[in-house]
Amino acid sequence: MIENRKKTKTVNVGGIKIGGSEIVSVQSMTKTKTQDIDATVAQIRQLKAAGCDIVRSAVPDEEAALALKDIIPQINIPLVADIHFNYRLALIALEAGVNKIRINPGNIGKRERVEKVLKACKERNVPIRIGVNSGSIEKNILKKYGHPSAEGMVESALYHVAICEEFGFNDIVISLKATDVQMMIEAYRLISSKIDYPLHLGVTEAGPGNIGMIKSAVGIGTLLAEGIGDTIRVSLTSDPADEIKAGLEILKSLNMREAGIKLVSCPTCGRIQTNMIPIVNEVQERIQGINKNLVVAIMGCAVNGPGEAREADLGIACGKDEGLFFKKGESIGKVSSDKIVDRIMEEIEKFEE
Ligand code: SF4
Repeated sequence: MIENRKKTKTVNVGGIKIGGSEIVSVQSMTKTKTQDIDATVAQIRQLKAAGCDIVRSAVPDEEAALALKDIIPQINIPLVADIHFNYRLALIALEAGVNKIRINPGNIGKRERVEKVLKACKERNVPIRIGVNSGSIEKNILKKYGHPSAEGMVESALYHVAICEEFGFNDIVISLKATDVQMMIEAYRLISSKIDYPLHLGVTEAGPGNIGMIKSAVGIGTLLAEGIGDTIRVSLTSDPADEIKAGLEILKSLNMREAGIKLVSCPTCGRIQTNMIPIVNEVQERIQGINKNLVVAIMGCAVNGPGEAREADLGIACGKDEGLFFKKGESIGKVSSDKIVDRIMEEIEKFEE
């Protein structure tokens, strides 16, 4: 647990609370055409099964906005409508029953349009996320700073916040995403020192697979460790379920979430006498989605392995073509290498938390 977590305001997104001392939620975004109702519902369900807390769908046009009313009854997870500026689409999405909308009030245009959207949100207790990206800072702010910067992103967010507050609306979450991890970290630190609204953390356009995961882990993880951040999204150019796995791993590594099994394994070295890497890969694959909170440690040798294996709930120290099993520090026997994965899965199934 992070001791120094900043106490922000709390907002309610369809039953999932963001901010205050609530657990940090994990979000993702569907990658289907929202108007393809069946595909979108299937992907939302897949995300929910992977451990997603809140899901967002793009609403680029009326067809997508109208599809929301058919999608929402088929899912059981809060849905966020991602709208950039079109107030009509926001109103259709709210009518359909979305639980949050992402919109920047300063981009909506006329005052009465802003008022309509904020009023409709207020009537339904629907919060909005003000989302500033380093690539979409308003021209006047960009001109002032000369280039995208943390200060410029914060100024942009505060501009949108001021519009909401002018209308007495403060059911707000803020994000300040940048592709540059250092800029993103600075922007969130700065805004956290100025306001108490909950923060949605993310590195935008982080990239594919490992690259995106590492950038996100550095950016999001640094801030969370400092007590900043109330909800996260890892953006990856890949299957959205991978975003959830990565997000949950970031939280688990900071002991902020006990979702599923924590897998510990040594890097292997010249002392190894078992082909351990395929064993760890298979276990990693097979434990996905198992909601038991335990630490499984797979270690490569009889030198450093048993010590670490004893510390885990379930530990395996690999020897020459065999694995020695420990449960809560007690030795429970050995099996040959080809049976290690199946025995691990059996022990996990039997394990009582
Ligand atoms: Fe090497 Fe053994 Fe340490 Fe693994 S546990 S890295 S095999 S010394």
